[in-house]
Amino acid sequence: MTGPFEPSTGGSHEPGSYEMDFGDQGLTGAERDRLVSGQAEMAERDDEAALRPKGLADFIGQPQVREQLSLVLDAAKARQKAPDHVLLSGPPGLGKTTLAMIIAHEMGSSLRVTSGPAVQHAGDLAAILSSLEEGEVLFIDEIHRMARAAEEMLYVAMEDFRVDVIVGKGPGATAIPLDLPQFTLVGATTRSGLLPAPLRDRFGFTALLDFYSSTDLLTVLERSARMLGIDAKPAGLKEISTRSRGTPRVANRLLRRVRDWAQVRGSGVIDFEAAVNALEVYEVDALGLDRLDRSVLYVLCKRFGGGPVGLGTLAVSVGEEADTVETVSEPYLVREGLISRTPRGRVATSAAWKHLEMQIPANYEF
Ligand code: ADP
Repeated sequence: MTGPFEPSTGGSHEPGSYEMDFGDQGLTGAERDRLVSGQAEMAERDDEAALRPKGLADFIGQPQVREQLSLVLDAAKARQKAPDHVLLSGPPGLGKTTLAMIIAHEMGSSLRVTSGPAVQHAGDLAAILSSLEEGEVLFIDEIHRMARAAEEMLYVAMEDFRVDVIVGKGPGATAIPLDLPQFTLVGATTRSGLLPAPLRDRFGFTALLDFYSSTDLLTVLERSARMLGIDAKPAGLKEISTRSRGTPRVANRLLRRVRDWAQVRGSGVIDFEAAVNALEVYEVDALGLDRLDRSVLYVLCKRFGGGPVGLGTLAVSVGEEADTVETVSEPYLVREGLISRTPRGRVATSAAWKHLEMQIPANYEF
């Protein structure tokens, strides 16, 4: 089989087991290289797997999502049925994949993983759906990037637990309905606005993941340092937590980079000095902004006088894809109050000028 997702040869899936195929996720080169990118790098997937919380109780932060999800799961357990389909939405690195794994773990079922870009044809999805087993959790990452024809097949599968397999071509083609077992679809998206309404409406529960507070990130870092056996002082971890742009994946990545610095240049211990020096080497500033974030701000203020300027123009000016600027850089810059989105384009706030240590033009209107 050459589909995007090959069912395991054994046929049965052990609880807690999972298989993955992420496709290329459409990352640009610059995006892959960024230290503060929320996207996972290939090389760190093993490290990430080791640090992923297994159960809902270990999942740090996002109290509303945790509470709501635990209700959904407990109710499903009590009814002995697969939980409703779940949509997880939010910027990269905030815990969507982790939550999908937790859902399967909490339900004692196995997880099947694929991604929107890997589902290019309806047939790809039919192969996945028809190999599902009762109660399994199917995780589709970047679900907004799935092929349109597959989306329509997914509507029927989600609602009626049925898939119509088309046999033959042209006028002689026939649709053979195939009943599917009860399964739970967990969809993840960084762009919920791009999901067609019929797809969005078929999810029984939608969780919006927000950036983490630095207190929650500190808890994430303490847990990771403990699990990785890293000697770290509270002041060192605190400094990393405030520069991790509200994202657990970034926090864990910066922790590893600071550990490198501490081992090579420092005393081996992650203390305040190690954190500050290492993050300076990696050009992560006091707010957690990296070079791309800063060039977005700089171009906005210097070249466009603070805006308003359209996203496409801004992206071209910093030599990056509009999608990367919109999904990765911008949400954090907006959340930090450095830029605002207006109907006429992106506008720098007074905090942006201040952060760049630039003089606000006399006639500038916010
Ligand atoms: P996403 O799918 O949203 O891109 P992931 O679920 O892959 O993000 O999370 C990235 C990493 O961040 C995981 O490996 C995990 O270790 C860590 N992580 C995410 N959310 C949490 C959390 N709430 N508590 C602890 N660690 C977390």
